[in-house]
Amino acid sequence: MIKFENVSKKYVDGTEAVKSLSFEINDGELLVLIGPSGCGKTTTMKMINRLISHTEGRITIDGKDIDTIDPVPLRRNIGYVIQQAGLFPHYTIEDNIALIPKLKKWNESDIKERVDYLMEVVGLDPAVFAKRYPRELSGGQQQRVGVARALAANPDIILMDEPFGALDPITREQLQDELVRIQSEMHKTIVFVTHDMDEALKLGDRIAVMRDGELLQLDTPDQLLNNP
Ligand code: ADP
Ligand code: ADP
Repeated sequence: MIKFENVSKKYVDGTEAVKSLSFEINDGELLVLIGPSGCGKTTTMKMINRLISHTEGRITIDGKDIDTIDPVPLRRNIGYVIQQAGLFPHYTIEDNIALIPKLKKWNESDIKERVDYLMEVVGLDPAVFAKRYPRELSGGQQQRVGVARALAANPDIILMDEPFGALDPITREQLQDELVRIQSEMHKTIVFVTHDMDEALKLGDRIAVMRDGELLQLDTPDQLLNNP
Protein backbone atom coordinates (compact mmCIF):
# COMPACT_ATOMS: atom_id res chain seq x y z
CA MET A 1 0.00 0.00 0.00
CA ILE A 2 1.15 3.51 -0.86
CA LYS A 3 0.16 6.05 1.76
CA PHE A 4 0.32 9.85 1.62
CA GLU A 5 0.00 11.65 4.96
CA ASN A 6 -0.32 15.44 4.79
CA VAL A 7 2.10 15.56 1.89
CA SER A 8 2.99 18.96 0.47
CA LYS A 9 5.37 20.06 -2.24
CA LYS A 10 6.67 23.58 -2.50
CA TYR A 11 9.06 24.15 -5.41
CA VAL A 12 12.13 26.33 -4.82
CA ASP A 13 10.42 29.24 -6.60
CA GLY A 14 7.67 29.12 -3.97
CA THR A 15 4.99 27.37 -6.07
CA GLU A 16 2.84 25.23 -3.80
CA ALA A 17 2.13 22.44 -6.26
CA VAL A 18 0.62 20.00 -3.77
CA LYS A 19 -1.01 20.93 -0.48
CA SER A 20 -1.44 18.54 2.40
CA LEU A 21 -2.51 15.48 0.44
CA SER A 22 -3.65 12.45 2.38
CA PHE A 23 -4.83 9.29 0.68
CA GLU A 24 -4.00 5.63 0.24
CA ILE A 25 -3.51 3.50 -2.83
CA ASN A 26 -4.33 -0.14 -2.18
CA ASP A 27 -2.34 -3.05 -3.54
CA GLY A 28 -3.64 -4.12 -6.94
CA GLU A 29 -5.68 -0.96 -7.34
CA LEU A 30 -5.65 1.32 -10.38
CA LEU A 31 -5.97 4.82 -9.00
CA VAL A 32 -6.54 7.65 -11.46
CA LEU A 33 -5.35 11.16 -10.65
CA ILE A 34 -7.44 13.61 -12.63
CA GLY A 35 -7.71 17.38 -12.79
CA PRO A 36 -6.86 20.35 -14.99
CA SER A 37 -3.37 21.13 -16.17
CA GLY A 38 -1.22 22.47 -13.36
CA CYS A 39 -3.29 21.00 -10.49
CA GLY A 40 -0.39 18.87 -9.23
CA LYS A 41 -0.97 15.44 -10.77
CA THR A 42 2.53 14.91 -12.13
CA THR A 43 4.11 16.30 -8.99
CA THR A 44 2.08 13.85 -6.90
CA MET A 45 3.06 10.92 -9.09
CA LYS A 46 6.76 11.76 -9.23
CA MET A 47 6.96 12.00 -5.46
CA ILE A 48 6.20 8.26 -5.37
CA ASN A 49 9.39 7.30 -7.24
CA ARG A 50 11.32 10.21 -5.73
CA LEU A 51 11.89 11.98 -9.03
CA ILE A 52 10.53 14.87 -6.95
CA SER A 53 11.04 15.15 -3.20
CA HIS A 54 8.13 16.20 -1.01
CA THR A 55 8.69 19.10 1.33
CA GLU A 56 6.23 18.15 4.08
CA GLY A 57 4.42 15.10 5.35
CA ARG A 58 5.14 11.44 4.88
CA ILE A 59 4.91 8.95 2.03
CA THR A 60 5.15 5.26 2.84
CA ILE A 61 5.17 2.14 0.72
CA ASP A 62 4.09 -0.94 2.69
CA GLY A 63 4.73 1.03 5.85
CA LYS A 64 8.23 2.04 4.86
CA ASP A 65 9.02 5.76 4.67
CA ILE A 66 10.22 6.38 1.09
CA ASP A 67 12.84 8.80 2.39
CA THR A 68 14.59 5.77 3.84
CA ILE A 69 14.61 3.85 0.53
CA ASP A 70 17.56 4.44 -1.82
CA PRO A 71 16.10 6.17 -4.93
CA VAL A 72 17.94 3.97 -7.45
CA PRO A 73 16.50 0.60 -6.34
CA LEU A 74 13.20 2.37 -5.62
CA ARG A 75 12.99 3.50 -9.26
CA ARG A 76 14.04 0.13 -10.58
CA ASN A 77 11.13 -1.39 -8.69
CA ILE A 78 8.54 1.09 -9.88
CA GLY A 79 7.55 0.96 -13.55
CA TYR A 80 7.17 4.34 -15.20
CA VAL A 81 5.34 5.16 -18.41
CA ILE A 82 5.28 8.68 -19.80
CA GLN A 83 3.43 10.35 -22.66
CA GLN A 84 6.02 10.08 -25.43
CA ALA A 85 7.27 6.62 -24.37
CA GLY A 86 10.77 7.99 -23.73
CA LEU A 87 12.43 5.06 -25.48
CA PHE A 88 16.15 5.19 -26.05
CA PRO A 89 16.45 5.89 -29.81
CA HIS A 90 19.71 4.00 -30.29
CA TYR A 91 18.49 0.85 -28.57
CA THR A 92 16.38 -1.76 -30.31
CA ILE A 93 12.91 -2.49 -28.98
CA GLU A 94 14.14 -5.59 -27.15
CA ASP A 95 17.02 -3.67 -25.57
CA ASN A 96 14.67 -0.90 -24.48
CA ILE A 97 12.41 -3.43 -22.77
CA ALA A 98 15.40 -5.24 -21.26
CA LEU A 99 16.82 -2.09 -19.68
CA ILE A 100 15.94 -2.67 -16.04
CA PRO A 101 16.43 -6.47 -16.07
CA LYS A 102 19.92 -5.82 -17.46
CA LEU A 103 20.65 -3.24 -14.78
CA LYS A 104 19.50 -5.88 -12.31
CA LYS A 105 21.89 -8.38 -13.90
CA TRP A 106 19.32 -10.99 -14.80
CA ASN A 107 20.80 -13.77 -16.92
CA GLU A 108 20.52 -13.52 -20.71
CA SER A 109 18.02 -16.32 -21.23
CA ASP A 110 15.66 -15.02 -18.53
CA ILE A 111 15.80 -11.57 -20.12
CA LYS A 112 15.10 -12.94 -23.59
CA GLU A 113 12.18 -14.96 -22.31
CA ARG A 114 10.78 -11.98 -20.42
CA VAL A 115 11.10 -9.63 -23.40
CA ASP A 116 9.36 -12.07 -25.76
CA TYR A 117 6.61 -12.70 -23.24
CA LEU A 118 5.99 -8.99 -22.64
CA MET A 119 6.00 -8.13 -26.33
CA GLU A 120 3.23 -10.70 -26.76
CA VAL A 121 1.39 -9.24 -23.75
CA VAL A 122 1.33 -5.76 -25.30
CA GLY A 123 0.50 -7.08 -28.76
CA LEU A 124 3.81 -6.74 -30.61
CA ASP A 125 5.12 -9.80 -32.42
CA PRO A 126 8.75 -10.26 -31.26
CA ALA A 127 9.71 -11.80 -34.60
CA VAL A 128 8.69 -8.55 -36.29
CA PHE A 129 9.57 -5.86 -33.76
CA ALA A 130 12.36 -7.04 -31.43
CA LYS A 131 15.23 -5.85 -33.60
CA ARG A 132 13.61 -2.63 -34.79
CA TYR A 133 14.41 0.83 -33.49
CA PRO A 134 11.84 3.15 -31.89
CA ARG A 135 11.69 5.49 -34.91
CA GLU A 136 10.45 2.56 -37.02
CA LEU A 137 7.35 2.21 -34.83
CA SER A 138 4.14 4.24 -34.72
CA GLY A 139 3.30 6.30 -31.65
CA GLY A 140 0.89 3.63 -30.44
CA GLN A 141 3.45 0.88 -30.91
CA GLN A 142 6.03 2.92 -29.02
CA GLN A 143 3.59 3.31 -26.13
CA ARG A 144 3.12 -0.46 -26.14
CA VAL A 145 6.90 -0.80 -25.78
CA GLY A 146 6.78 1.76 -22.98
CA VAL A 147 4.23 -0.38 -21.14
CA ALA A 148 6.29 -3.55 -21.72
CA ARG A 149 9.40 -1.80 -20.43
CA ALA A 150 7.62 -0.66 -17.30
CA LEU A 151 6.50 -4.24 -16.63
CA ALA A 152 9.89 -5.77 -17.47
CA ALA A 153 11.34 -6.33 -14.01
CA ASN A 154 7.91 -7.27 -12.66
CA PRO A 155 7.43 -4.26 -10.37
CA ASP A 156 4.50 -4.15 -7.96
CA ILE A 157 3.87 -0.49 -8.72
CA ILE A 158 3.52 1.26 -12.07
CA LEU A 159 3.23 5.00 -12.56
CA MET A 160 1.61 6.15 -15.81
CA ASP A 161 1.66 9.84 -16.70
CA GLU A 162 -0.85 10.53 -19.50
CA PRO A 163 0.50 7.47 -21.29
CA PHE A 164 -2.10 7.55 -24.06
CA GLY A 165 -2.56 11.32 -24.22
CA ALA A 166 -0.71 11.85 -27.49
CA LEU A 167 -2.43 9.03 -29.42
CA ASP A 168 -5.27 9.23 -31.92
CA PRO A 169 -8.67 8.27 -30.44
CA ILE A 170 -8.80 4.77 -31.96
CA THR A 171 -5.28 3.75 -30.91
CA ARG A 172 -5.93 5.28 -27.54
CA GLU A 173 -9.03 3.17 -27.02
CA GLN A 174 -7.15 0.04 -28.08
CA LEU A 175 -4.40 0.71 -25.55
CA GLN A 176 -6.93 1.45 -22.81
CA ASP A 177 -8.55 -1.93 -23.53
CA GLU A 178 -5.13 -3.59 -23.44
CA LEU A 179 -4.38 -2.01 -20.10
CA VAL A 180 -7.69 -3.22 -18.67
CA ARG A 181 -6.82 -6.74 -19.84
CA ILE A 182 -3.24 -6.60 -18.52
CA GLN A 183 -4.45 -5.25 -15.19
CA SER A 184 -7.07 -8.00 -14.84
CA GLU A 185 -4.26 -10.55 -15.18
CA MET A 186 -1.44 -8.86 -13.32
CA HIS A 187 -3.14 -6.81 -10.59
CA LYS A 188 -0.42 -4.19 -10.37
CA THR A 189 -0.77 -1.15 -8.18
CA ILE A 190 -1.13 1.54 -10.83
CA VAL A 191 -1.24 5.31 -10.49
CA PHE A 192 -2.58 6.74 -13.74
CA VAL A 193 -2.56 10.47 -14.51
CA THR A 194 -5.00 11.86 -17.05
CA HIS A 195 -7.14 14.91 -17.62
CA ASP A 196 -9.72 12.91 -19.58
CA MET A 197 -12.77 11.93 -17.49
CA ASP A 198 -13.89 9.24 -19.94
CA GLU A 199 -10.50 7.59 -19.62
CA ALA A 200 -10.62 7.92 -15.83
CA LEU A 201 -14.08 6.34 -15.62
CA LYS A 202 -13.07 3.51 -17.92
CA LEU A 203 -9.80 2.61 -16.20
CA GLY A 204 -10.01 3.68 -12.58
CA ASP A 205 -10.88 1.46 -9.65
CA ARG A 206 -10.97 4.79 -7.86
CA ILE A 207 -10.57 8.33 -9.10
CA ALA A 208 -8.81 11.11 -7.20
CA VAL A 209 -10.00 14.52 -8.38
CA MET A 210 -7.40 17.25 -7.86
CA ARG A 211 -7.71 21.01 -8.05
CA ASP A 212 -5.03 23.59 -7.20
CA GLY A 213 -2.82 21.04 -5.46
CA GLU A 214 -5.61 19.68 -3.31
CA LEU A 215 -7.68 16.52 -3.33
CA LEU A 216 -11.34 17.39 -3.95
CA GLN A 217 -12.81 13.92 -4.06
CA LEU A 218 -11.63 10.32 -4.04
CA ASP A 219 -14.29 7.88 -5.15
CA THR A 220 -15.11 4.89 -7.32
CA PRO A 221 -16.41 5.69 -10.82
CA ASP A 222 -19.95 4.78 -9.70
CA GLN A 223 -19.80 7.06 -6.67
CA LEU A 224 -18.39 9.85 -8.81
CA LEU A 225 -21.13 9.54 -11.42
CA ASN A 226 -23.85 9.53 -8.77
CA ASN A 227 -22.32 12.26 -6.65
CA PRO A 228 -20.40 14.63 -8.92
P1 ADP B 1 -0.21 18.69 -13.59
O1 ADP B 1 0.54 17.42 -13.71
O2 ADP B 1 -1.53 18.53 -12.92
O3 ADP B 1 -0.31 19.45 -14.87
P2 ADP B 1 2.14 19.64 -12.16
O4 ADP B 1 2.32 18.74 -11.03
O5 ADP B 1 2.98 19.46 -13.37
O6 ADP B 1 0.61 19.64 -12.58
O7 ADP B 1 2.35 21.14 -11.69
C1 ADP B 1 1.71 21.65 -10.50
C2 ADP B 1 2.14 23.11 -10.30
O8 ADP B 1 3.51 23.14 -10.01
C3 ADP B 1 1.94 24.00 -11.53
O9 ADP B 1 1.61 25.28 -11.06
C4 ADP B 1 3.30 23.99 -12.16
O10 ADP B 1 3.49 25.17 -12.91
C5 ADP B 1 4.21 23.94 -10.96
N1 ADP B 1 5.51 23.30 -11.23
C6 ADP B 1 5.73 22.09 -11.78
N2 ADP B 1 7.05 21.82 -11.83
C7 ADP B 1 7.67 22.87 -11.29
C8 ADP B 1 9.04 23.21 -11.05
N3 ADP B 1 10.03 22.38 -11.36
N4 ADP B 1 9.31 24.40 -10.47
C9 ADP B 1 8.32 25.24 -10.12
N5 ADP B 1 7.02 24.99 -10.32
C10 ADP B 1 6.69 23.83 -10.90
P1 ADP C 1 18.69 6.76 -12.45
O1 ADP C 1 17.23 6.69 -12.17
O2 ADP C 1 19.51 7.16 -11.27
O3 ADP C 1 19.02 7.54 -13.68
P2 ADP C 1 18.47 3.91 -12.93
O4 ADP C 1 19.57 2.93 -13.03
O5 ADP C 1 17.42 3.75 -11.86
O6 ADP C 1 19.19 5.30 -12.80
O7 ADP C 1 17.70 3.99 -14.32
C1 ADP C 1 18.38 4.16 -15.55
C2 ADP C 1 17.39 4.66 -16.58
O8 ADP C 1 16.31 3.75 -16.71
C3 ADP C 1 16.80 5.99 -16.17
O9 ADP C 1 17.18 6.96 -17.11
C4 ADP C 1 15.29 5.83 -16.17
O10 ADP C 1 14.67 6.71 -17.09
C5 ADP C 1 15.06 4.42 -16.64
N1 ADP C 1 14.26 3.74 -15.65
C6 ADP C 1 14.60 3.51 -14.36
N2 ADP C 1 13.66 2.82 -13.74
C7 ADP C 1 12.70 2.59 -14.66
C8 ADP C 1 11.47 1.89 -14.62
N3 ADP C 1 11.05 1.29 -13.51
N4 ADP C 1 10.72 1.84 -15.74
C9 ADP C 1 11.16 2.43 -16.87
N5 ADP C 1 12.34 3.10 -16.97
C10 ADP C 1 13.09 3.17 -15.88
